[in-house]
This record gives sequence, structure tokens and C-alpha cells, in this order.
Amino acid sequence: MNKYDVVIIGAGPGGLNCALELSKSNKTVLIVEQKKNIGPKVCAGGLTGQDLEYLNIPNKLLDFKLNQITVKTPYQEKKVKMKKNFVYTIDRKRLGQWQLKKLKKTSVDIKTGVRVTKIEKNQIILNNKEKIKYNSLVGADGSNSRVRKYLGLKTEKILCGMQYIIPTTKYKELELILDSGFFHSGYAWIFPHKGYASIGCCCNPDYLSGKKLRNNFEKWLKDSKINIKKGEFQAHPISYDYQGYKFGKTFLIGDAAGFASGYTGEGMYYALISGEEVAKMILNKRYKSKKINEILELKKTHENFLELLEKSSFFRGIEYEIIILLLKTRIFNKKLIKTFCP
Ligand SMILES: Cc1cc2nc3c(=O)[nH]c(=O)nc-3n(C[C@H](O)[C@H](O)[C@H](O)COP(=O)(O)OP(=O)(O)OC[C@H]3O[C@@H](n4cnc5c(N)ncnc54)[C@H](O)[C@@H]3O)c2cc1C
Repeated sequence: MNKYDVVIIGAGPGGLNCALELSKSNKTVLIVEQKKNIGPKVCAGGLTGQDLEYLNIPNKLLDFKLNQITVKTPYQEKKVKMKKNFVYTIDRKRLGQWQLKKLKKTSVDIKTGVRVTKIEKNQIILNNKEKIKYNSLVGADGSNSRVRKYLGLKTEKILCGMQYIIPTTKYKELELILDSGFFHSGYAWIFPHKGYASIGCCCNPDYLSGKKLRNNFEKWLKDSKINIKKGEFQAHPISYDYQGYKFGKTFLIGDAAGFASGYTGEGMYYALISGEEVAKMILNKRYKSKKINEILELKKTHENFLELLEKSSFFRGIEYEIIILLLKTRIFNKKLIKTFCP
């Protein structure tokens, strides 16, 4: 078939969820994904309670279910503990394959291993020269979105994210490291998975270029005596430059729209929600999305916090120490978890 009601570019969590929602209608839908295998993506694989509740994902697919996070600064550390689990880790390949399995039961067509190289008003062109016509186009193609470029939108607000994937069973806990000397207003993390750990960091490249962040990251790994000999280094930008999601018959979702959080860099939940909501809009022109407003509110709270840290200059280090002191109080603990791990 060379004409579809909806063509979705990108089979990340956003694109797959958008297709699943559209599959409930009689629209013809195609997803085009450049990778041969659906799922793998540079990502720490961290989920919060709201992601889990939304996805209704079987427990066996999760790597770790945790009821505590250790937050470290240069001078202090605090274990933030709750009665119930509130952070989880999942392998991105496993998540993608689980979403794909559901989609395979529908009439959605999926093309993998082919890249969209050109977008025109009514059609896309693939790297194998195939032309496919569409009525609606969804850009679910991540932080380097071609659809976003086609719409003429710039991407200026980004985080530079990097990590080592280290084959190990040593790490069983989730750690967040707030150290202004190494990571400026960004942070580093240790996320445990089954058989490996994601140890990474992110920061706004306006304050630390990718090269400088990498150098600092390597120094921090060495100081922290983290063995990266068998680790695989990965890096990817995270766009949080939101400028809208509906542009006539073209839509943007997930990182392509800049829905990710500018502070934590998390974007799976935002991609899933925006994918579903955009599908509902395509199916019903009058549909008004409350959920997109909710994720934009949450994103705004995170980015206000980021702005405060970015502007704090010399005081940033002191602010991190104050955060740890506040974390020792129960009220602040709960508030922080509600804001950053809802
Ligand atoms: C280091 C790092 C750590 C992170 N950790 C977390 C975390 O712990 N928790 C969290 O929630 N988020 C995290 N994120 C962010 C998260 O990975 C993204 O927000 C999320 O994957 C966005 O989903 P998406 O569906 O919008 O896009 P993506 O998952 O990026 O999927 C886009 C898809 O489009 C495909 N594509 C792109 N261009 C084309 C083209 N021209 N033709 C065909 N296909 C194309 C790509 O191959 C890709 O599969 C992290 C990001 C980084 C970089």
C-alpha cells in the first residue's frame, strides 16, 4: 500500500502508543522505523509510578522495583525511603518489544530498517526511494526529528545525555548525584538493571559542552572508583524545546515535540501520553486534551527548578546541600517525590 490515513515516523514509546490508539479505529496506519529492531534506545530506563500505572506493564518485564533512592552531594547523602515502591527500571528493548507485540495484533502496518529521508506536503520518501502518501503525519522521531525540521522549528533547548552501560550485578540501588563541580545544573545517576547498570549524566550544553561534560563524567567515574572497562559508552541529545504539537495535519509527539523534562531528562511518560492524545485528536477533531496540559504543567515545574539551578552560579553547591538537609524532613521528602517521581 502506498497511501495511509496516518503515517507515524518513529517507533519509540510515543510512536508505538500513538499507533495502538489509532488501531482502535478503521483508519489505515503505517509506522516507519529506521532501526531493524524496535526498542533499543540510549536511555537509563527509569520509570516512575505514573508511568507504570499508565502502561499497566506486567511486573516480570521490570528489572528493579525500588522504594528508595539515595541522593548524594559532595558533602552529604540521604536515602529517600517510602513504604511503597516509587521508582522502577526497565530495559528499553523489552519495553519496545512488549509494545510491538500488542501492535502486531492490530491492522497497523510496520516498516522497519527504512529511514524517512524527505517529507513533502502529502507524502514521505524513504531511503529505498519508496514514496508513501498520507492524510495525517505524526513526527515521533525523537530529539533529532526530521518532521520538526520539515515544520521549520528550531531545537534550542536540549540536554546532552550520556551513559555507560556496564555489564554487572553489583548495583542494586538507584542513586542520584548532585555535584555542581562535575555536572553544573545537571546530575549523574546510577540505575540498576538485571545484569547491567546505566551510569550516566546529563546537562544543558550551554553550560557544559558535550566534550567538557564527557571529561567531567570520566573524572567523576574515576574518583568514584566505578569500573567502566567492560562498559559501552552512549550519548544522545534530549530535546525539551516544546513549541506545540499540532501544525495543521502534521503532529509532533514525545521528544520530537520537546515534551521531555528539561531537568530530569525523562521523556518516556511524556512520549506515551502525547502519542495517545494526538491519536485521539486525529480521530476526533474536537477532542481537547487535558492530559497534555497536565504533562506540560509538570514539565514547567521541572524547568523552573532547572532555571533556578542554572542561574544560581556560586550558590548552586550550597543549594544542593540545603536540598539534602530538607530531604531529612518527611514533608519535603513527600513533596519532592510527588514532583520528580509522581
Ligand atoms: C542518556 C539518556 C537517559 C535517559 N533516561 C531516561 C529515563 O531514565 N527515563 C525516561 O523516561 N526517559 C529517559 N530518557 C529520555 C527518553 O529516552 C526519551 O524521552 C524517549 O525515548 C522519547 O520517546 P520518543 O518515542 O519520543 O522517541 P524515541 O524513543 O527517541 O524514538 C524515536 C524513534 O524514531 C526513529 N527515527 C528517527 N528518525 C527517523 C527517520 N528519519 N526515519 C525513521 N525512523 C526514525 C528512531 O530510530 C527511534 O526509534 C533518557 C535519554 C537519554 C539520552
